[in-house]
Amino acid sequence: MWAGIDDTDSVQGGCTTYVATEVITQMEYDLIGLPRLVRLNPNIPWKTRGNGAMALHVGIGGGKRHMIGEIDGEPVYCYSHRKREANFSEMAALLEKIIRRHMKRDAQPAYVISTRKPPASLYWKAVRTLVEKEEVMAELDGTAEYRLYNGGRGIIGASAAISWRPGDRTYELITYGNEKWIERESVIAMDRACPGTFNNYDYRNEYIALLPKSTSPVFYGIRGDSVEELYRAKEMLVTSKEERWLIFETNQATDDHLQRKKISQVKPYESVIVKGYVKREPYVIKGGHLIFSISDGHEIDCTAYEPTKEFRDVVKELRRGDEVVVYGGVRKQPFTINIEKMKVLNLVEVYQKRENPVCPVCKKHMKSVGRGKGYKCPICGNKAGEEDAKYDRVKRYIRPGFYEVPVIARRHLAKPLKRMAVMPESI
Ligand code: ATP
Repeated sequence: MWAGIDDTDSVQGGCTTYVATEVITQMEYDLIGLPRLVRLNPNIPWKTRGNGAMALHVGIGGGKRHMIGEIDGEPVYCYSHRKREANFSEMAALLEKIIRRHMKRDAQPAYVISTRKPPASLYWKAVRTLVEKEEVMAELDGTAEYRLYNGGRGIIGASAAISWRPGDRTYELITYGNEKWIERESVIAMDRACPGTFNNYDYRNEYIALLPKSTSPVFYGIRGDSVEELYRAKEMLVTSKEERWLIFETNQATDDHLQRKKISQVKPYESVIVKGYVKREPYVIKGGHLIFSISDGHEIDCTAYEPTKEFRDVVKELRRGDEVVVYGGVRKQPFTINIEKMKVLNLVEVYQKRENPVCPVCKKHMKSVGRGKGYKCPICGNKAGEEDAKYDRVKRYIRPGFYEVPVIARRHLAKPLKRMAVMPESI
């Protein structure tokens, strides 16, 4: 049986993954495979933080058993396959009890239990677009049991999490605890020793990205491509003792949210990959955000927001005519792409005027007639074109290739370039 849960928390704190650890420790059943943390559309306006939902495969386990965590001193195992199905009413009663106990005031939780997964299309819709609650309920009817609380918008995330079929996937080892002390040097040592992990530490901004950004029962999370390496990474960290830890299978760092689009097709709240030529050159607005526009016939603004720090140093080097591919989430107001990464395909040659043309008769510098209109000798009236002036080639400080926002500004779903070496981009 698959159990999906979402939207138990609010901005006041809490975390749906913590609620999942409660279900795991209290249920009479075994976990089949790893618990799943599924991130959905990062641009929806009503998410609390990272728009994450949970899916658990439960039953009486058989086959191989692996230890995947510890909750209050007790080991947590998952099994390679299911011997027997879980009982619907028992699971429903447990989910009801736990959600009621943990739901935060403004949250809209829901759970779904089902022996069948909803179609994969539901996951793709929920990770890439805006989905209506009614649409999801219609999809589930007759195949699943579900319960909504306080409006129960969480049904969208809960169902989408179950419908995820991991293609590309990563893992996260999440720890929980009240006492939160971590030694910076050990994070750096771990980051250097565990190349399959990512988004641990931002060296330039001296930022420990393992720690949650807001109040949360989460202590820290280590993300990586292999479960084995996560165990090793955890061993290397010098921290206060966690109360719980658990490994999740996730769609984080997969770029599943991105869709390749023509600029004319770009819609708010989606995440896109668009190719175009720089039209309006980068300029800074209040708050330190950097904006430029690209065009493929239609034009769109792209923004490197202040939190993307030194990424803005790359963006500010773009010049009109440069060919780029921009990856990012689309904001509605202002309508702009919030850049996650960028591939520079082609840089134009940029020239800067050094000297006006010299009149061949009077040997004096000519004067500009007006922008783009050429030159005229102030003495004899001789004329010259724009091309007759002397120009210097301007040095470009960026090169064609991929650029990404620093670790401090990474979004959960954005695939770090480090992972793209494993699966190269095809543009
Ligand atoms: P946390 O990361 O701490 O778990 P969160 O950011 O996941 O918090 P939620 O409280 O889960 O925030 O809120 C997200 C809400 O948006 C949920 O109700 C979820 O069902 C809903 N939702 C998720 N994806 C979509 C989507 N594509 N369209 C519409 N609603 C969505």
